[in-house]
Amino acid sequence: MTEHQTLSSFLESWAGQDDLRRAVAATTQSLAESCCAIAEIIALGSLAGSLSASRGENVDGDTQLELDMRANEIILDELVDAPVAYLASEELELPVPINQGAPLYVAIDPLDGSSNIDTNVSVGTIFSVMPMKCDKGDAETDCFLQKGIHQVAAGYVIYGPQTAMVLTLGEGTHVFTLNPDTGEFCLTIPHVKVPEETHEFAINASNFRRWDGHIKAYIDDCMEGAEGPHAKNYNMRWIASLVAECHRIMMRGGIFLYPGDRRPAYQTGRLRLAYECNPIAFLVEQAGGAASTGYERVLDVDPTDIHQRAPLIFGSRREVELVNHYYKEVHPLQERSQLFGSRGLFHTG
Ligand code: MN
Ligand code: MN
Repeated sequence: MTEHQTLSSFLESWAGQDDLRRAVAATTQSLAESCCAIAEIIALGSLAGSLSASRGENVDGDTQLELDMRANEIILDELVDAPVAYLASEELELPVPINQGAPLYVAIDPLDGSSNIDTNVSVGTIFSVMPMKCDKGDAETDCFLQKGIHQVAAGYVIYGPQTAMVLTLGEGTHVFTLNPDTGEFCLTIPHVKVPEETHEFAINASNFRRWDGHIKAYIDDCMEGAEGPHAKNYNMRWIASLVAECHRIMMRGGIFLYPGDRRPAYQTGRLRLAYECNPIAFLVEQAGGAASTGYERVLDVDPTDIHQRAPLIFGSRREVELVNHYYKEVHPLQERSQLFGSRGLFHTG
């Protein structure tokens, strides 16, 4: 096997003697170790017990599965020795204190895509690392509600045919592949770049009737292909596993859209700002892509709640800019159909 720099040595040389960087490096290393343990359980599948057994509901009423809870416990146990003051998790109602006075806090989706676990599709862990010092106020709780631009590190681990960590420390985005023989993540793609342009979109099209008119108009124009205003034919992908979608986009470009829709619980989409949208946005921007809510840059959203949702549109930069343009300039589809007669997904004309 060829020689690759290990994650530990990469973190060590990045951190140098800087105190905050050393804390970020140690925290990333703890998360990497948690993810190795999670990868082992996932690779065992049913041999590790019933990973998809229901264990209750989280604060938002999502079903918590055995694997969600096991992943959460592994991460909590591992972070006890890390310079982390608080952990916020999808599986915990409130951030839990870990090490008082430590300089960082971590927001995490311990297991993303867990509803796919029985189908043997790639799932992941997503994390965001924030400083505990913040400009919002003096209370510790103020630090949980910082904008994504303040992240000092973000990453995800994808548990697929290979397990890989995709990490940014604010200086590009890098891919580290897990060598299961040594238990070490090794740098395989430094400075990964999301292609600027794409012909591939990913959206849950079954929600078409519930979307706002801007998204409807954009998707409708994608469906028009080479004859439509975008003047190109598209392919569609939908795995319903955010990390798997993001990794595909990292590797070969694309656009992913989870907009808000008319359902009462989905008005700002489905994905959580703190531990899904923000880390993905940081990673994608550091790889040359873009991430937007349709109205603003994801990293500029000012949060009011640790579990709040946000619309998420990310991927190849030019395509995300095109969607932003639909929000600003293009007639929503409802207005258009009044002007031009009936149009819509799968029956355009
Ligand atoms: Mn998730
Ligand atoms: Mn999850």
